Parts: sequence; structure tokens; C-alpha cells
Amino acid sequence: MWAPRLSRTSRLHHPVRSGAVAARGVDPFADTDDQAALRDLARTVARRDLAPRARHWDETEEFPDASLEALRRSELLGITVGERWGGAGLGDVEAAIVLEELARVDVSSAILAQLGYNGPPRAIEHLGSDALRDRWLPLAARGEALFCIGISETEAGSAVQHLRTRLVPDGEGWRLEGYKNYVTGGHRARACLVWCRFPGSAPGATQGIGAVVVDLEADGVSVTGTHQKMGLRGTSEAELAFDGVQVRPEDVLVAGDPGSNDGFKTLIGHINHERCGNAAMCIGAAQGALEYAVAYVRDRRIGDRPLADLQGLQWKLADMATRLEAARLLLGRAVRLAGPGGTPPALETAMAKLAANEAAKFVCDEAIQLLGGYGYSREYPVERVYRDVRGLCIGAGTTEIQRNLIGGRLVRGDVPTGGAWVPPRPV
Ligand SMILES: Cc1cc2nc3c(=O)[nH]c(=O)nc-3n(C[C@H](O)[C@H](O)[C@H](O)COP(=O)(O)OP(=O)(O)OC[C@H]3O[C@@H](n4cnc5c(N)ncnc54)[C@H](O)[C@@H]3O)c2cc1C
Repeated sequence: MWAPRLSRTSRLHHPVRSGAVAARGVDPFADTDDQAALRDLARTVARRDLAPRARHWDETEEFPDASLEALRRSELLGITVGERWGGAGLGDVEAAIVLEELARVDVSSAILAQLGYNGPPRAIEHLGSDALRDRWLPLAARGEALFCIGISETEAGSAVQHLRTRLVPDGEGWRLEGYKNYVTGGHRARACLVWCRFPGSAPGATQGIGAVVVDLEADGVSVTGTHQKMGLRGTSEAELAFDGVQVRPEDVLVAGDPGSNDGFKTLIGHINHERCGNAAMCIGAAQGALEYAVAYVRDRRIGDRPLADLQGLQWKLADMATRLEAARLLLGRAVRLAGPGGTPPALETAMAKLAANEAAKFVCDEAIQLLGGYGYSREYPVERVYRDVRGLCIGAGTTEIQRNLIGGRLVRGDVPTGGAWVPPRPV
């Protein structure tokens, strides 16, 4: 397992690293020494094992098995699982560091780590029973099982309260009936965290929505297809059908009560982990595209001058870098607010995801422009990155849904943490 065991002081202390900070101040978002070591490891694995095949997964739409194996071998898959189950017990900050480094070279491969860090294993550890934890977390820690999330349905995407997948009572437990689409990695995963209605709950209501963990090798589970996509073509999104799948009481992650929406609120709140991971992948992917573009304009000569001499193009780089750094700072705040074993707060997370999605789209679009015709060519990586981040702007709650959350909170009197805002007077 990845070595450093973080002491309490090393988590809290942010040492001044050369080049990372101004001479007299301390960057509160700088990596600690342990985090810097983790970043170095992730960067090495990304460059050595993931980068060479990134284009292959995109062109062929093959599942990135070799990336999964490289992440497992380097013991990066289980870092967020608690030490009790064999993981490294790291948090959202470290998850974001690794995801950023992996996505810098290949988002399809980074998503494999995202599913482990911010998907079902984290939800099982935070919200599940000991039985669920003991069953699934050792597999997650060792990277021996891939997990997926089944929330979306044909008529329930942003409006998730319209989901229809339901539990029907059967003896001590239930039978699961329904259909999920857009399940990332669902055709290769061993287990799926399925949002569903408990008996007595009607479509359209948030009351009665809960979640169960389904072993995808169980009778009644079938993969009915995979979506053909613009980007993120390595990790396909699957359509899963559940036809009378047995669900025992010990498979329940969050129980749905038709008289309350507490279960729904718990599940929605926990999605903040996934949103932060999504933002980290956007930031990493855009960082890769930006660095590629800087190198390109320094190298490419028009007549006797490099493109980099043109101030108009330097301005593009300035805007790209500034938007990207702004998003990175918002994410840095959101993940640090989670604290050990906690969950990032909704408002700061939505701001981080929105900023990272928009920054990544902008940066990758401008990177294509800076490379001219070559930027539009599949022989250069920036058009792939653009297509990949485009999907991240939709998954884990679209940018419109993040705006809804931010705007809705502001008008209700919620303000971001930090002390700079004066909360409005109650009306
Ligand atoms: C790459 C990728 C991976 C995904 N992975 C998963 C996964 O692993 N598991 C899973 O369950 N789902 C997954 N999804 C599905 C994703 O969560 C949904 O696509 C997303 O929530 C949007 O739902 P929809 O596609 O039904 O669009 P709709 O909800 O129909 O939205 C269509 C458009 O209307 C806008 N809109 C909708 N409602 C509002 C509103 N109230 N206010 C303003 N605008 C609104 C949306 O922002 C969007 O622009 C994935 C999607 C993608 C693209």
C-alpha cells in the first residue's frame, strides 16, 4: 500500500516548498511533504503507464484495463479506503491530487480512480453498515473490484426525483426492479450503488428514495448496452437492467422512508465527494492542455518568430492560466473544508465544480485554437481532452444544476465560508 502514514501535524502543516510560494508567505493550498510525494507517484504512473495508451483508448473505445492494472500495481486505487480495511485512509485533498495528475494525461483512466475514491466505496465507508463495509471495502482497498453508481434513468437525470427503479418486498428483503442508464463502468464493475424507491414511495417524490449496493454478478442483472460518446471513450457508460434482483437487508446503504426525504438528502449531500473529484479531473485535464499549448507556441515559428512572441496569444494563455488557477483554488478550499472523514460542503463544492468545468472547457477550446489546424487534428492530444472535459461538464450534476444550487443558496441567505460575506438579513 502507498507508504506515507500521515501524522496529524503533517496533515495540518503546509511547509514552504521552493518555487511553490512567494518569498515571505505560505501558500495555504501547497502540498504537504506527504502530499507532494503522493503527487510525484501519481505523476510518474500517469506519464509512464497511462499516457502512452491514452489515444488508443479514445480511438478504439476499449476499456482501459492496462490503466486499471497500472493503478492497482502502484497501490493508488485504495488510498481513500480506511486503514481498517487495508487502505491508506486518505481524504478528499489527496484524492484530488491524484485525480488531477492522472487526468493530466488521460481522463478515461483517471475515472477508474474517481470511482474508487469518490464513488461507492467512500459512500459505503461513511454511510454503510459494518456488514457492507467488511464485504466491499477490502476489495476496494486492494483494487480488486471496480464500483459504479446507478442514479440516472431515461426520465430521471437532473430531475432525479423522477427515478422509478424500486424495491418490491420479498420475504426478509426485497426484489430490485428497474433500469439505469449512463452508469460509468457499469459493464465492467463488480458492484453498483443503486438509488431506488423503497416500498410506499411514488415517482416524483424525494421521500422514500434510498440506496442499495448490488452485486452485479447476481441473478437478474443485465447489461443492456453501452452509450456511444463524443469523449471519455475508454470508460463506457452502461445501461443496466435489474429484473427481480434479490436485495437483503444487509445490502441497504441508505434506507428510504416514504414519510421522509432524509435518505435522499443524505445521498445528495454525499455526491459532493464525486463533484470535487470531477472538478479535480477537469483541472488536471486542462492543465495538461495548457502546458501542451505553451510548449507549442514556444516551439512553433511563423517566419523567424515563435508564436509565443505574439502578445495576442500571450493574452490567451494569461486568461487560460488565470481561470484554471481560480478553479484550483476553489477546489482547494472545498476539499479542505471536508476535514478528516467528512464531506465537502455543498455550496463551496458547487462553486468549485462549476468553475472547474467552465475553466476546463475554455482552456481546452483555446488550446485547440492556439495549435491552429493541428489542434483540430486527432494526432495532437488537445481535441481529445476537449471532448473528455465536455462530458465532465454534464456528469455529477450539470453546470446548470450547480448554478441552481449556488443561486438558490444565495437567495436563501447562505454564504460561502471565509468571513468576507455579510449574510443578508432574514426576510
Ligand atoms: C460522461 C458521463 C458520465 C456519467 N456517469 C454517470 C454515472 O456513473 N451514474 C449515473 O447515474 N449517471 C451518470 N451520468 C448521467 C448524468 O448524471 C446525467 O446525464 C445528468 O445528470 C443530466 O441528466 P440528463 O442527461 O437526463 O439531462 P437532463 O436532466 O434532461 O438535462 C438536459 C439539459 O437541461 C438542463 N436542465 C435540466 N434541469 C434543469 C433545471 N432545473 N434548471 C436548469 N437547467 C436544467 C441540464 O443542465 C441540461 O443542460 C453521466 C453522464 C455523462 C455525460
